[in-house]
Amino acid sequence: MKHKNFRKLFTIYFITFGILISLMGASINYYIQTMQANKILSQKASEVFQIRNENELKYYLNHLDNTLKSIKNSRLMQDFISSKNLYNKEKINDLFLSTSNANELIMRIRYIDKNGKEVILVDKNNSKNNSFVENDSNLKDQKESDYFKKISKLDNSNIWYSKLKLVTTNQEIEKPYKPTFIIGTPLFNKNNFDGILVINIFLNDLLKMVANSTIFNHYIIDKDNNYIFHPNEEFSFSSYKNIKRDIKEDFPNGLNDSEVFTYSLENIFKNEENLLMVIKAKDNYKNEIFLDKLKTLVLLLFITLFLSFIMAVMMSNTPIMLERELFKAHEDLNEFKEIINKYVITYSAKNDGTIIESSEAFEKVSGYSKEELIGNKISIIKHPTEDKETIKNLLNTIRKNQIWIGIIKNKTKDGREFWLEQTIIPKIDEKNHSLKKYLSVSIDITDKKLLEEMASIDKLTGIYNRRMLDEFLQKTIDVVSRHNEELSLIIIDIDYFKNVNDTYGHVEGDNVLFQVSKIISENLRSSDIFGRYGGEEFLIICTKTDKNSAFILAEKLRNAIKNHEFPNVGEKTISLGIAEFEKNDKVKSLLEKADLALYKAKNNGRNKTIIYEKEIKSLDKNSNFYYI
Ligand code: GH3
Ligand code: MG
Ligand code: MG
Repeated sequence: MKHKNFRKLFTIYFITFGILISLMGASINYYIQTMQANKILSQKASEVFQIRNENELKYYLNHLDNTLKSIKNSRLMQDFISSKNLYNKEKINDLFLSTSNANELIMRIRYIDKNGKEVILVDKNNSKNNSFVENDSNLKDQKESDYFKKISKLDNSNIWYSKLKLVTTNQEIEKPYKPTFIIGTPLFNKNNFDGILVINIFLNDLLKMVANSTIFNHYIIDKDNNYIFHPNEEFSFSSYKNIKRDIKEDFPNGLNDSEVFTYSLENIFKNEENLLMVIKAKDNYKNEIFLDKLKTLVLLLFITLFLSFIMAVMMSNTPIMLERELFKAHEDLNEFKEIINKYVITYSAKNDGTIIESSEAFEKVSGYSKEELIGNKISIIKHPTEDKETIKNLLNTIRKNQIWIGIIKNKTKDGREFWLEQTIIPKIDEKNHSLKKYLSVSIDITDKKLLEEMASIDKLTGIYNRRMLDEFLQKTIDVVSRHNEELSLIIIDIDYFKNVNDTYGHVEGDNVLFQVSKIISENLRSSDIFGRYGGEEFLIICTKTDKNSAFILAEKLRNAIKNHEFPNVGEKTISLGIAEFEKNDKVKSLLEKADLALYKAKNNGRNKTIIYEKEIKSLDKNSNFYYI
């Protein structure tokens, strides 16, 4: 997956998740807020009722009771009842005026005599105006009025409360409408009914005082579900005005709706109407509350979304960074693999030598293509002259789960030889502890080998190398052939030298090689040409020397080596083969003769010098001569 895709996917997941969580949270919140809003409304309604009605209205009506009682029980009233002279009447006029002016909601105070005739009437046109005393000519007979009939029948101490109604004159409702409320009490002159005292209230002003709120609409409903008070004044006193206003129009779900709050006014207006105060939140206030909550929720939703977006971007960074690092590591590894493939000569093979994998560098050095290598045996590159022992030793080492390091001569596809300094790492099967496969990592040392061959001095021992020996031998044979001089060849091979390598390692082997060459060098004559002919084989070209003199020299060398104590390794012996130049001998034939003698020395128990001899036909077993 690309970085961008990954980030996109991660962000989409995260934001989707964020949206879901926010929506869920918002819904729960909205539900809770709605419940809370209803609760708040209910609390507010209850507070409004408590403060406005219970406290203010009740307080005011109590105050009115007391006003009525204090007039009734005043000295002036008592005097007037007992002696209705003009003077006393004037006093009552004054009393009514001052009381009415002191209380702006009082519309009218009247004294009505025992026959129902208004005797003293102090009136006010509206609550803002001053009171005035009504002319006697305007005073009416109230004998038939409902309140006169009711109050005149009461005991002395009782107070009567009227319905909430509209003012009527001669049984006609006055216009403009004057909503009013009457309280009254009977008056007695020494236990004889004398008349009544009545106070009218500006009901509209009173109700407006208690039923105005910015939050709620207030309604007053009587026991027959008629509106007494309605926010729309038109519908107030609907039954008096012969207007039909169904309460369903204001309260579609009835009065039991959770958004409608009802309170009884029985204890406030102590009449027979069983009035009910109904409070309902104004639509705009309700919308305001819900809109307010909604606004908060929308804001919350946006904040959550915004935060989840930021979080998504931030969080997606971490995996992207990790992924980037992984990607980088992967790229580095690939690069590394590429380098290995290109420059490191390596292959892996099964335990039977079947090639499993090979590097480009291996293809290049061997001349075989990958297709030709994989599935084939590694012996495909085996050089015919490579020492069998080396391969055997290699296999023995890796089978013991040890790393083998050594030099192997190989053959390219087109037959050229190439040398690899190989490190072979075994992989053992955990189950049966046998060799499963192995890995070879090599350095191409062909050039080094060629250089070594081209140089005249052997690097390890400091003596002549094979190339030089061949050259000298050729030259010497040329000279000897022409001048008929004597010439002998001694080939030396260290006995059981491989053991040294196997037991003490190659470095120790090299040491032994060096010391052997040194001991031989020290025991030679200045005319002898000495060199390393290969591995642990040495060659001495003994000019002007017959085989017997060569034998003496050889024996001297054999003893010198035999008697030498090699550090760490101890005793070591050599085998020597001698051949004397004969007419028509060439480099090859002379070397072959010396080699045959050496072979004989090895076969005869080693630590021996054998001379190649053509003439002698038979020799005893312990003879130093080899014949054919
Ligand atoms: P023998 O000659 O007595 O038959 O036994 P050998 O153990 O000497 O057998 P062989 O001649 O076949 O083995 C020669 C060994 O010498 C094999 C090779 O690993 C080792 N050798 C060849 N060149 C070098 C070298 O430059 N340094 C070291 N350390 N070992 C070498
Ligand atoms: Mg050898
Ligand atoms: Mg040997």
